[in-house]
Amino acid sequence: MVSSWDIIALGFLGSLGAGMMTAVGAAGIVLIRKLSSRNEDILLSAAAGIMLAASIFSLLLPGIDQAQSQGHEQGSAVLIVLAGMLLGAALLAVIHKYTPHQHFQKPEPGIDARHLRRIWLFILAITLHNFPEGMAVGVGFANGNIDNGLPLAIGIGLQNIPEGLAVAVSLLAVGYSRWYSFGVATLTGLLEPVGGLFGAALVSVATPLLPWILGGAAGAMLFIISDEIIPETHRRNHEGFATFSLLTGFSVMMYLDTVLG
Ligand SMILES: [Zn+2]
Repeated sequence: MVSSWDIIALGFLGSLGAGMMTAVGAAGIVLIRKLSSRNEDILLSAAAGIMLAASIFSLLLPGIDQAQSQGHEQGSAVLIVLAGMLLGAALLAVIHKYTPHQHFQKPEPGIDARHLRRIWLFILAITLHNFPEGMAVGVGFANGNIDNGLPLAIGIGLQNIPEGLAVAVSLLAVGYSRWYSFGVATLTGLLEPVGGLFGAALVSVATPLLPWILGGAAGAMLFIISDEIIPETHRRNHEGFATFSLLTGFSVMMYLDTVLG
């Protein structure tokens, strides 16, 4: 018999392990050499494609599944997740509006403050989405058993690898150092065990919230991709590279999420 403390510990450790895979992905930036402006746009577009696919395949679709498994019909399950998505996008729009336009983060020499604001909002959206992902792992352990929680933790851990790389290359692309980019990417993954703890310890509260929060995280991501990242990568006449790089990132993530996740 597994005690409730064991479940909470498992939910926490499972989501911590998944979150730490972010660092594994972020370590990939050691392979990247000097960046031309074209390569910056290519990397940033790939990051946007990764997060676009993650929004669909690891947030929206699992959110709909969750709502249905809680007894909602398909139509109302979709509407719940859509409502969450619109709320998430609206929240990011408000944050975006009231974020200081300059000196948002102390820029290192040679970094344009406007790019910084865009990248930091993108990273904020990626960080936020790790909370419901961790929550899903925690709820998975609490509602079912290890057989239910473990594959979920592994699947989410796998899709955190490209996400960690996405954060790290975004920071590298705007001129931060390799170590700084790696460090920030690793920190974004640490919201995952917080969500995991919440999901496992307060499962009766977390379960009905999960479809809303999964939808909300997707909305935040979609807002920032459309509002900032795509325009940013199409500003310097590399639209063709940017579009195909976005599609490449999307493809890799779609494969990971649907086949391995
Ligand atoms: Zn994710």
